[in-house]
Amino acid sequence: MSIITRYVINVNIFIILCLCEQVAGNAQKAPLPDDHKSVHNAFSLNKKDLENIVAELPAEIRDRILLSPDRFLSLMANVINEPAGMLTLVDKKHRLPSGYEPSDLVSMKDYPLKISQQYFKISSAVIPDLLEMAQAARKDGIELTFASTYRSESFQRTLYERNVKRRGRKEADRVSAQPGHSQHQLGVAVDFGSVNDSFTGTKMERWLNSNAWKYGFSLSYPKGREDITGYRYESWHYRYTGKPAAELERAYFGGVQQFMMEFFHSKGSIFIAKRTRDKSKPSPFSIKN
Ligand SMILES: [Zn+2]
Repeated sequence: MSIITRYVINVNIFIILCLCEQVAGNAQKAPLPDDHKSVHNAFSLNKKDLENIVAELPAEIRDRILLSPDRFLSLMANVINEPAGMLTLVDKKHRLPSGYEPSDLVSMKDYPLKISQQYFKISSAVIPDLLEMAQAARKDGIELTFASTYRSESFQRTLYERNVKRRGRKEADRVSAQPGHSQHQLGVAVDFGSVNDSFTGTKMERWLNSNAWKYGFSLSYPKGREDITGYRYESWHYRYTGKPAAELERAYFGGVQQFMMEFFHSKGSIFIAKRTRDKSKPSPFSIKN
């Protein structure tokens, strides 16, 4: 090959490279239409994607999300980093795998907490925020007391059957979960004070009602929501969801945990699939992953 031919080839390659760079540069600079832009840097989701994800939610919740998607997605970015399976939906229609037992149970007697039974256990994921909450309550002159925490499936069976004998199946189903269907089996539920209506209106109950969410706890069966939750009002039963989800529930889901957990159950996997960071972390929405 002559020097001239080589020179011509080199110049051509140079021109092609320059053109390519220009095209790439133009592509980067060209503004995307609003609908195609990612709404939040933690997820590769555009406005239309988000509208589809929230489409089936009650209108009030959906509108709140679409009105301030940035805060919603910032909280979701933290929610998806919660421990594996912690936000699994457990209700009358969704049961845990038979014989499920959390792998991270710890003895509550090893911590400065007022428990009614020495054998009480709870998921270790709950402990830091639970201790922080107990300390905050103490500062306000309230010692939180614990009436029930983790319950195995067989213990739940005993409780449920006892309730059926005492009240009949229909009433039992309003106040106790069937075995495999209890939040207590997940290791993240806590019954405070006394497990009956006399707890409602007490100092401890009122304190929890105003403050528990700040420490990641959510009232599972609120007043007037039996048609949604399937259970009558239980002022003492809280589920730990972690702080970001508790804030999310309060800000967007009208304080109704059931709506949020059902949303996580049906749409949570989309946020997991579309995240831009920590891609290998297991899902908090399913204990099977
Ligand atoms: Zn309970």
